Amino acid sequence: MIESLKPVSVAPSPCKICSGPAQLYGVVDFHKSCDEARGRRMVLSGVPIYYRRCTACKFLYTDAFDDWSIEQFKAHIYNDEYEKVDPDYRSVRPNANAEAVARLWGERKEQMRVLDYGGGNDAFCAALRTAGFPVAVTYDPMVTQYVQRPEEKFDLVTCFETLEHLPDPAAGVAAIHECVADQGLVLFTTYLQPAEFDQIGLGWWYVGPRNGHISIFSRPALASAFGQHGYKLVSFSDNIHLAYRNLPPYLSHLQIRK
Ligand SMILES: [Zn+2]
Repeated sequence: MIESLKPVSVAPSPCKICSGPAQLYGVVDFHKSCDEARGRRMVLSGVPIYYRRCTACKFLYTDAFDDWSIEQFKAHIYNDEYEKVDPDYRSVRPNANAEAVARLWGERKEQMRVLDYGGGNDAFCAALRTAGFPVAVTYDPMVTQYVQRPEEKFDLVTCFETLEHLPDPAAGVAAIHECVADQGLVLFTTYLQPAEFDQIGLGWWYVGPRNGHISIFSRPALASAFGQHGYKLVSFSDNIHLAYRNLPPYLSHLQIRK
């Protein structure tokens, strides 16, 4: 039994990113998860979850869980069954991400204060500390141990597989911004809607309420969310992105001149 879902309205809502008109776009079963891409068969829940899409920035989201408390997210999504639909959550992904960050910034690790936003179990930061990064701190509002957001600013804020989980992603980006030093970087992942999204629709593997994938960015939506705080974006792939306001001195040679 899933309680407190926000009632569906056919009227357009203001987009959570750009305030443009977001119309109802489609509907999936609550149990739809990314794991079907790995061949897992969905057992239908009978609970329809409607998604909206902004006609301006193409941001795709459901507001069905907007009235949920953190406890309700933990009861219905981030529960014991969660790992079955996100088997890489516990260690595979954090370790791979830590290796990548150590490869990219290892030479500067003494000066890199790292905050992992939405870092879950601290596995990523633990791996970085083991690799010799003196400051690697986890912040995650969903995990009791790490709910305390540090007040200082960080040279690198990482945010892996998190933005798509946020019921209020604009507030999430604003909170990330508050943690970033003036010449700090944000390295984050979230899959952007593919070019052929209109043909695939909600059948796209990344749309999965059971995974907590409730906020799905398009490229313009991502640019808008970070641009509101003065950030520029560089994407290395459809999933891996870097945001910055002012490049740190060691990257100043990369500044794009107009
Ligand atoms: Zn929008």
